[in-house]
Amino acid sequence: MHQVPLLINGEFVQSASNELIDVINPANQEVLAQVPCTTDSEMDAAIASASETFKTWKDVPITERARIMMKYAALLKEHHDELATIICHELGKTFEDAKGDVWRGIEVVEQAANAPSLMMGETMENVARKIDTYSYMQPLGVCAGITPFNFPAMIPLWMFPLAIVCGNTFILKPSEQDPLTPMRLAELFIEAGAPKGVLQVVHGTKPQVDRLLEDKAVRAISFVGSCAVGAYIYSKGTQNLKRVQACVGAKNHMVIMPDASKSHVVNNLVGASVGAAGQRCMGISVSVFVGQASEWVDEIKAGFENVRPGVWDDKDAAYGPQTSKAAKERILSLIASGKEQGATCLIDGSNYTVEGYEQGNWVGPTLFTDVTKEMDLYKEEIFGPVLACMFVDTLDEAIALINESPYGNGTSLFTSSGAVARKFQHEIEVGQVGINVPIPVPLPFFSFTGWKGSFYGDTHTYGKQGIRFYTETKTITSRWFEDDIASGPNMSINLK
Ligand code: NAD
Repeated sequence: MHQVPLLINGEFVQSASNELIDVINPANQEVLAQVPCTTDSEMDAAIASASETFKTWKDVPITERARIMMKYAALLKEHHDELATIICHELGKTFEDAKGDVWRGIEVVEQAANAPSLMMGETMENVARKIDTYSYMQPLGVCAGITPFNFPAMIPLWMFPLAIVCGNTFILKPSEQDPLTPMRLAELFIEAGAPKGVLQVVHGTKPQVDRLLEDKAVRAISFVGSCAVGAYIYSKGTQNLKRVQACVGAKNHMVIMPDASKSHVVNNLVGASVGAAGQRCMGISVSVFVGQASEWVDEIKAGFENVRPGVWDDKDAAYGPQTSKAAKERILSLIASGKEQGATCLIDGSNYTVEGYEQGNWVGPTLFTDVTKEMDLYKEEIFGPVLACMFVDTLDEAIALINESPYGNGTSLFTSSGAVARKFQHEIEVGQVGINVPIPVPLPFFSFTGWKGSFYGDTHTYGKQGIRFYTETKTITSRWFEDDIASGPNMSINLK
């Protein structure tokens, strides 16, 4: 059985741990590999190597650091389909969806290659007579990243390329559910010319994360994952005086106005809610129909009836299995709770299966109406292919409903009215808003700006805020005495 290696001090090494976790293909339960829980001494070695490497890496010219990112982006493009295929096997995504996972990560690496422009500080001449002030953005030191299962290429790439191009060293702890993709990312990073020790990869769960949260050498932690774990990491990390950014769970609403284009609504809502098996933090889990838009539910239902999950290389499959048996059980129990608590289940995907892959963690597309905000189905993050439809009379009611939600990751509005769109985008308390765009994930020259209970921290992931997160600003105020120059040993010029 293949054991997933660690990357420590530039070497891919076998862990001495005897605590191993199976990496499972969720479509058929095949064990693809085993991932070791990194031992304490291996964690120490990774942190020590990252600390030592920082001393020299921070002084490598920014142009050289950026060139590694250019090479890395090119290599990722060359290996794009290979990476997507690894994702398909260890996470079950369809090939098209997996390619998107890789591509959205490549875009962040391209942005990292722009670091020379992004890391420029500010200058001001003559802040007082003959005194100038200027600032530099300098790296922090050792940074660490803890990533979730649902985007095993994109989310590690949200983190380590930006951190490293800024002059930091980085320790990645990827999800134990799909570590094969991040390991391939690491191999390609070394191939792109990353010096040894700049990136370390360790594996495991809470004990390994705790080690990163406790070690003084680790200056900043980037986390993406569930709310409960994010809250723990944010509070423990900040208690230990680290900088922490934690992108966490979500419950995203799409508001549908009666003046919207019905065909666009139906096409977009179906894909945005059940695509990627609902395992997207920006996917839509609640659709709020305003006024007469409620009459479109039949068409949404017809759209759901055309959705067929399947295995990754089935070109007609809309999405793949859930990541694990535990995830599937959690989704089924929330579907059951919806029925018990009085919602109407128009389509129930609880008993879905795929011929030849009966062991897969399948959940079929599931559609509820008459959902109220007191139901668990509404309150809990389902992270599965389940859409809850709700009905309100006015745009104000829709806005109030969303603003009451503890989450604030993404939302979208479908309308043909600019005035409605303007009011919605201004009043809504959510960090990423789509106007006739169902899943408004910002490209990497912006930042990923979840709000409220969907983000803990101050400075968001990637984009300019990502650069800020991974750097410290140093502000220099300087004065040079002209009489010193004029009277210096080699100075013949008279400045006066
Ligand atoms: P998770 O919180 O279970 O795991 C995330 C990471 O934390 C993994 O690396 C895991 O090993 C580690 N971890 C798990 N338990 C831990 C503990 N007790 N202490 C320390 N570390 C621990 O999340 P997941 O199931 O892998 O991912 C799905 C979640 O991620 C969903 O809630 C989803 O909304 C969220 N997510 C959010 C965003 C965003 O940008 N806001 C993006 C993707 C996913």
